[in-house]
Amino acid sequence: MPAPVLLWFRQDLRLHDHPALIAAAERNAVIPVYVLDDETPGEWRIGGAQRWWLHHSLDRLDDSLRAIGSRLILRRGPVAEVLAKLLDETGASEVHAIHHYEPWWRAAEAALGDRLVLHDGNHLVRVEGVRTGAGTQFKVFGSFWKALATHLPPPEPLPAPERLAAPEAWPESDRLEDWALLPTRPNWATGFDWEVGEKAALRQLDAIPAKIADYETERNLPARDGSTRLSPHLHFGELSPRQVWAATAGEPAAEKFRKELAWRDFTSGVILELPEYGTRNGHARFDPFPWRTGKAADADLQAWQRGRTGYPIVDAGMRQLWTTGWMHNRVRMIIASFLVKHLLVDWRMGERWFWDTLVDADYGNNTVNWQWVAGSGINANVFTRIMAPLVQSEKFDAGDYIRRWVPELAGVPDPAIHDPEAHGRRPRNYPAKIIGHREARERALAAYRTMPRG
Ligand code: FAD
Repeated sequence: MPAPVLLWFRQDLRLHDHPALIAAAERNAVIPVYVLDDETPGEWRIGGAQRWWLHHSLDRLDDSLRAIGSRLILRRGPVAEVLAKLLDETGASEVHAIHHYEPWWRAAEAALGDRLVLHDGNHLVRVEGVRTGAGTQFKVFGSFWKALATHLPPPEPLPAPERLAAPEAWPESDRLEDWALLPTRPNWATGFDWEVGEKAALRQLDAIPAKIADYETERNLPARDGSTRLSPHLHFGELSPRQVWAATAGEPAAEKFRKELAWRDFTSGVILELPEYGTRNGHARFDPFPWRTGKAADADLQAWQRGRTGYPIVDAGMRQLWTTGWMHNRVRMIIASFLVKHLLVDWRMGERWFWDTLVDADYGNNTVNWQWVAGSGINANVFTRIMAPLVQSEKFDAGDYIRRWVPELAGVPDPAIHDPEAHGRRPRNYPAKIIGHREARERALAAYRTMPRG
């Protein structure tokens, strides 16, 4: 019997539209494997909220594989060593996998050499294929989108395999429960009301055409369910962006939505070119920026994390994040700007908090968006554009959103809800503003002026 092949699942935990799985199945018997590697990524090891999602997603994937005659092998350790050992143990000839662009995969991919066969599938098009005339990745989304258009539409999604041939003998697998991915003491995930896994993601895909009809306006309103909430499914690859694209075919209102979807491809291009983007400013002139440090800054960071800043829209967002592992996009922008500009806390502190608390925490998307908000990034946004959270709250009609996530303010009506303090409606158990908007703005601009000119 010819040698089996390994199918290395990463953030592509699905059976549909999985070109690596299809290619592996065409070769011979397939051994599907997922490796939990907390060592190679260093400080970017999978965060707490993602671990919760991962547990459920792996469980569902194993069920789906068993339904087609296969199973998921779980192993733990530095991925290059684990896969090399598994190749020896099983006599497998090749490893098939989908391209991913997080920098920590590179060493393992290099170590596997020509035994590794990489396939496209987690992006709309091959990320390396969309480059500037100078042969570099794009730094600005608008130009990237124009260039991407010449490669679109993406390939049609592939069907899931109906059966997978099993190897003569299955290698041993860890038990998922032994990985202890779920929180216990305390169980902070009781409010994570997500349906995880490919089947749930496919159900959500069915709802997309109805969603995108009003997407352009509704997506910005935190109180409405106006965006798709596909981000954790896309991050874990329970759906491919090609499937999402295909689900919007023929929808006249799809353009804006597809453009947002393309951000994933853009951010992957950025981290491909600048692998340290998660820790290094895109603009080196930001390196000497006088971020606040010390006890007062720590206390402010903690107030932000706990949703106790006295700015209702900020506090609502931070509490939605803690309770559900997710936050609305408009509110992500507001709370990120607040941390960096109102509190003058280094954007990396916010990025780390997101890494641990978001179920969709994604190295490319998180890093690029934080640097975009901070103005430290390679793309066109400037530090001096300082968002006014109270104005944003009113403009995007966040009253019901605030009342939902900040119960102390449940009885405060519009328009006082956006700024109860100014309207004399601040309840005793809700904090006063941590800093006034005007004072914060002046302090931020003064800090900015200390930097060398760009
Ligand atoms: P929809 O509006 O329905 O969009 C569909 C999909 O397009 C999303 O699921 C997502 O995959 C992609 N997308 C949309 N907007 C963006 C964007 N600005 N950047 C990258 N992809 C986008 N998104 C993450 O997936 N992971 C992160 O770690 C992350 N961190 C962020 C940090 C900050 C400071 C900010 C401002 C944004 C961040 N985003 C991140 C982007 C965005 O907020 C989320 O993708 C979006 O809120 C997810 O909700 P949705 O699925 O309903 O989005």
